[in-house]
Amino acid sequence: MMHMQQPFNPRNRLNFSGGPGVLPECVLREVQEAIMEVPGVGLSILGISHRSDWFAAVVREAETNIRTLLGLPAGYHVLFLQGGATQQFAMVPMALPRAGKAPPEYLDTGYWSAKSIAEAQRVAPLRVIWSGRATGYRRLPTDAELSHAPDAAYLHYISNETVEGLQFSRVLGREDVTRVCDMSSDFLSRPCEAQRFALIYAHAQKNIGPAGVTIVLVRDEIVRQTPRDLPSCLDFRAQAEAHSIFNTPPVFAIYVVLLVTRWLLRDIGGLERMDSINRAKATSLYACLDAGGDFYRTRAAGVDRSLMNVAFSLPTPGLEREFLQEAGLAGFSGLEGHRAVGGLRASIYNALTLDAVSELCGFMADFRQRHPR
Ligand code: PMP
Repeated sequence: MMHMQQPFNPRNRLNFSGGPGVLPECVLREVQEAIMEVPGVGLSILGISHRSDWFAAVVREAETNIRTLLGLPAGYHVLFLQGGATQQFAMVPMALPRAGKAPPEYLDTGYWSAKSIAEAQRVAPLRVIWSGRATGYRRLPTDAELSHAPDAAYLHYISNETVEGLQFSRVLGREDVTRVCDMSSDFLSRPCEAQRFALIYAHAQKNIGPAGVTIVLVRDEIVRQTPRDLPSCLDFRAQAEAHSIFNTPPVFAIYVVLLVTRWLLRDIGGLERMDSINRAKATSLYACLDAGGDFYRTRAAGVDRSLMNVAFSLPTPGLEREFLQEAGLAGFSGLEGHRAVGGLRASIYNALTLDAVSELCGFMADFRQRHPR
């Protein structure tokens, strides 16, 4: 086939976008083929019924792969939902039981957790137990700074703050707490002890697929306690009973998630291996940033630095503009910081290769040398 011979667009390989992010080249090639015709089916992936046996098998395999990757024990539902992570900001407080309990506890560690708090507050009162807002979200709390009520309805936090580049390297909270986590920007990038969480949600468009689908792992006991009066689309029980095919699901996005989970299992060899690759990438990028004195300045405090989103700045906005322009000409894309904080950001999700990071480091060292201070 003609298109299979075409060389891969190098800009895809050097795509440091914060999301939707880079996907593995082999997955993009399979998707390219599936747009015309899914092998063995004879139809375009964009025109296959969500009620077909084939699609039910896609959902089953994607679910099984996620369970295998995480070593998820029985007693959890794996759901593929729409509405993005933002919809989960609202679904979580609507679904989780709180009668007779103290208000749920939320951590305010960055741009996205502030959004999760604002949304959850529209549903019911909550308690913010730590906030990094006053200090510009440059670090995460230590355990000693967190005081948990023994009877809080649940604890909610974000494992990786995509905008500021802050990531927890431990699981938070009292052992018996109902723990809820937004893992949108680090899900399936490392092992995560999923069995310690009552509910995990993550949209696909960082590490595991295109925008349009959000993966939710939720304990059966939570689903069974969901209030009976929720709109069906926002009800974990209705979604679980329908095995994620309650209404027309994002067939294409779920299919791509399946391909990425196969890649993680077969090509990468699981999450331990993915984690060590991701660590190698982050270590070399931070080393390159640190090597330049104070030319490159990372946002995050040392121990809280994210392995996924490396947020940094240059001494002046003018230099940052120059950096972005030259990086663009050299084939790199997606390096501008989030509009909320400005600066620069290199997102190094699962599919971004170590070679691509090395090329960026080479470019950055050269840029610094050409701009002596
Ligand atoms: N949580 C995190 C950690 C995010 O990074 C984002 C978006 N980048 C969101 C939530 C919001 O996701 P969505 O656009 O899918 O609603």
